[in-house]
Amino acid sequence: MSGFRGGYVGKILRIDLTRRKYLTQPLPAELAYNYIGGYGIGGRILYDEVPPWVSAFDPENLLIFSTGPVNGTPTPVAGRHTVVAKSPLSGFFGDANAGGFWGAELKAAGYDILVIAGRAEKPTYLFIRDGEVKFGDATPYWGLDARESERRLKKDLGDTEIQVSNIGQAGENLVRFAGILTDEANRIAARCGLGAVMGSKRLKAVAVRGSSRVPIANEEEFRKISQEVIKFVKEDKNLQMFSKGGTPLYFGPLWQLGDTPGFNWTARQLNPEGLSWPGGYEAILSGTRSCYLCPIGCRRISTVKDGAYAFEASVEGPEYETVSMLGSNCGVTDAKAVAKANDLCNLYGLDTISTGGTIAFAMECFERGLITKEDTGGLELTFGNADAMIKMIEMIAFRHGFGDILAEGSRRAARIIGGSAEEYAIHVKGVEIAAHDPRVFQGGGPHYACAITGGRHTEGLTIDWEILGRPRDGLGLPKPDKSPKGKGYAAKIIEDWTAFIASAGWCWFADLNAAYQQEENFVKAFNAVTGLNFTIKDALLAGERIINIRKAFNVKHGASRADDKLPKRLLEEKGRAGTVVNLAETLGEYYEARGWDPQSSKPTREKLTQLGLQDVAKDLWS
Ligand code: SF4
Repeated sequence: MSGFRGGYVGKILRIDLTRRKYLTQPLPAELAYNYIGGYGIGGRILYDEVPPWVSAFDPENLLIFSTGPVNGTPTPVAGRHTVVAKSPLSGFFGDANAGGFWGAELKAAGYDILVIAGRAEKPTYLFIRDGEVKFGDATPYWGLDARESERRLKKDLGDTEIQVSNIGQAGENLVRFAGILTDEANRIAARCGLGAVMGSKRLKAVAVRGSSRVPIANEEEFRKISQEVIKFVKEDKNLQMFSKGGTPLYFGPLWQLGDTPGFNWTARQLNPEGLSWPGGYEAILSGTRSCYLCPIGCRRISTVKDGAYAFEASVEGPEYETVSMLGSNCGVTDAKAVAKANDLCNLYGLDTISTGGTIAFAMECFERGLITKEDTGGLELTFGNADAMIKMIEMIAFRHGFGDILAEGSRRAARIIGGSAEEYAIHVKGVEIAAHDPRVFQGGGPHYACAITGGRHTEGLTIDWEILGRPRDGLGLPKPDKSPKGKGYAAKIIEDWTAFIASAGWCWFADLNAAYQQEENFVKAFNAVTGLNFTIKDALLAGERIINIRKAFNVKHGASRADDKLPKRLLEEKGRAGTVVNLAETLGEYYEARGWDPQSSKPTREKLTQLGLQDVAKDLWS
């Protein structure tokens, strides 16, 4: 018995790749209740066990696969697991999450959390089946793309129902923005370069298979809430549209709003028709698919059968972020070319946001004469040149030629290129900014500037509340107005809430698209699954604690106030909406709401004490 009434399996699996040993530990109840799961529990473990002198590629860095209590249960829209490690892109806290079936299967195999340390002597895979762990020789799979290596591993293990998380060549080659794929390279824990951490450990894949059922504390209440959510998802017009169009649905409207970046975050215009759904995206859309028991099913299947951009039939198509970062942000307007680029990124295991951001940066450097065809190996790396973009993706994944420089990410590449290049690298803490422009929503400024994991879009953007009309009265936020006042505070509250939702194991789209209608219903579902008795206030407090433990990791690893900044372009050059980010009012308000010292940006002793983090207060302030 784990001591948990529901949701948690109650076990942590620890792997030492250097010694080829493993150990099972009970999941402490206090850790679960205080940090929930996902990047909460993962964050606390990383804070406690990875000291500042360990760099991202050192064997002592931990690679943590983490689930939340709703994963592996029939909770609607909860098919995501999280990966945590020190990021090779930022040098600070890194996390990423992926949809699919892997997280549910890890729990069925008997574990909530998988903590991987060390470095294998030769390419290795792990196979975890119903509590048992096998270290396998991954030499035959090393060098294969993520889809092929998953298929071969399943065949060799003789079970097509196995779920696999693995890396492609980009992770093996330590590309600093490589991700970790699952579901035959259709889903990816993309951000922060955690696939490169996996590559540095010579770990090609983690296969999981299990037969246990995750207990639910209050079955009757759980059934009632789940049925209501599923009914709402099936009847609500907006959710039905999202179900049909997936995230590409947002591209057209967000482009018009000026939120979607184009031509490396400049004000240059293009015709968005070729990339929009409905619109040019329809030419590639051939079906839909779901993550584990998700009633929305927003995943797009795409097909390009013929021509230069053909790829394997029925793999997954580009999401909004990819359409934006490899499409409009690189000046490319052909959905087929973007779909091809997307598939290559999936096969090699590259984060499409950082890949698009880094190539767009290089395109601007090329057009400004900071780099030439001599640097790029003859490639005319101009905006809109889809073929050059596709070629560069391959060069990055294999670190060929100029791709070796771009494989370092835009911040490091800019330093290598020199001159004014740093002005065109659009990142926060080295992590390229996702495709939502903080020049169009006021909470975006402090959110991105202070983001613990850099330029992320899934950690509490205020755009849905500020611009898209999503009420947040459940979180105590008023109807927004146009003034900057209150937006720093709102960013803090929405981030805290998002940290709870993500750590519990929900897909971000459940909250963004109001699939549970009100925040209160998430908490009810959480309580029904776990048997706990949380209120929204408790959930926000847990979210705040989770944000602060990750922030404390950054502080311990050298982050300072100077790292809480935005690229000059976003502060000084007007975007397509005709605005710049104004941090003057929002940043101070954000620090105050957070209880972070505005000079050093460290969480204050009082704030840490209030969150029950006295040990962290001692670390940071004595
Ligand atoms: S909403 Fe989409 S990404 Fe999220 S769990 Fe459902 S199918 Fe997966």
